[in-house]
Amino acid sequence: MSASSATSGIPGQTSCYCNHLGVLRTSWTDSNPGRRFIGCHKWQEAHGCGFFVWFDPPMCERSKMVIPGLLRTLRRVEDEAKRAKKMDRRFKTLLMVTWVLCAVVGIWCMI
Ligand SMILES: [Zn+2]
Repeated sequence: MSASSATSGIPGQTSCYCNHLGVLRTSWTDSNPGRRFIGCHKWQEAHGCGFFVWFDPPMCERSKMVIPGLLRTLRRVEDEAKRAKKMDRRFKTLLMVTWVLCAVVGIWCMI
C-alpha cells in the first residue's frame, strides 16, 4: 500500500499554491494511519507545489498504536487469500488435465 491514497470531493474547496483545487488524500503512514489531508493535485510528482494541510484532527496515541497492526494483519490475510486463490486455480487445472487423461485412456482402452 502506498503512503497515501486520493479521493474526489473536497469539502471547503481548498486551493493549493499552484491555484488548483487541492485533493483530499488519506495518509497510510504508521504515524498517521487513515488520517486525511489536502495536498496539491500533483502530489504524486514529488508532492507538487508542496501544499499540505491536515483535514482530520490529530489521531490519539492509541489509534496510532492499533491501526498499523490492524493494517499489517489485513495485508497478511489478503496475501494469504491471493495465495489460496492461486493454489485453487492450479488444483482446478490439474483436475481438468486428469479428467482429460482419464477420458483419453478410457477411449483408447475401448478401441
Ligand atoms: Zn499545487
